[in-house]
Amino acid sequence: MSGEDSRKPLNLSGAAGRKLIIAIDGPAGAGKSTIARHLARHFGLLNLETGAMYRAFALKALRTGLPLDKSADLEQLATETTIRLEPGEEENRVLLDGEDVTGLIRNPTVTDAASRVSVFPAIRAWMVRLQQQLGAEGGVVMEGRDIGTVVFPHAEVKIFLDAAPEVRGQRRFEQLGQDGRKSELQPEEVIRELHARDERDRNRADSPLKPAQDAVLLDSTDMTLEQAVSAAEAIVAAKLKLS
Ligand code: C5P
Repeated sequence: MSGEDSRKPLNLSGAAGRKLIIAIDGPAGAGKSTIARHLARHFGLLNLETGAMYRAFALKALRTGLPLDKSADLEQLATETTIRLEPGEEENRVLLDGEDVTGLIRNPTVTDAASRVSVFPAIRAWMVRLQQQLGAEGGVVMEGRDIGTVVFPHAEVKIFLDAAPEVRGQRRFEQLGQDGRKSELQPEEVIRELHARDERDRNRADSPLKPAQDAVLLDSTDMTLEQAVSAAEAIVAAKLKLS
């Protein structure tokens, strides 16, 4: 992993005059957020976590008490909702109808609801539009499930980050512990939840989780997160022909 001193200059350019876009996709617990954050720092880009947007909308649906399987109701709710993502040093600040919900969207109930509401094409189309607006000028690392395939199919760098399910489950459990939520769940429950979400994300009809044809696959199963970060930096450098 590189420190502050090795930051690269900001004006890495992408296609058609806009600045560089790095797309990072992959399942939960593969290390996307850590890697995206480090790449953003290292290459001087903004880091945008698209999962946080689905989570914020899921929180609104839960608060409203709408069934999470009724597309038309959710679609209507979406027309009454504004979601803003503000890039920060450590994580994105998420504003739901102007309210800062950053600290409210990481619990297991919202996590599960996010993967349920995200199966609906109308909700995805709305989110994709917002994400394309956010990244229109480039200069971003955007992470999610469909960034390289749908949101920015012309991103200069696409990384599909994966790891064995047991490893991802364990990482997610430890991450919950760091966030002070470990006592809420047993490791087996975390792993079960992760599997269920994986299945839904990989098998939905609209924009299923899968690598873009031109994505570089990075399997972090046998890597520490530091090694995975270094590998991701090397992928970006090779793509951009930086030495
Ligand atoms: O990345 P994160 O775990 O925060 O995402 C929460 C959920 O939002 C995912 O399980 C997935 O169902 C959905 N999602 C998505 N497309 C994205 C980002 C997230 O469908 N680009």
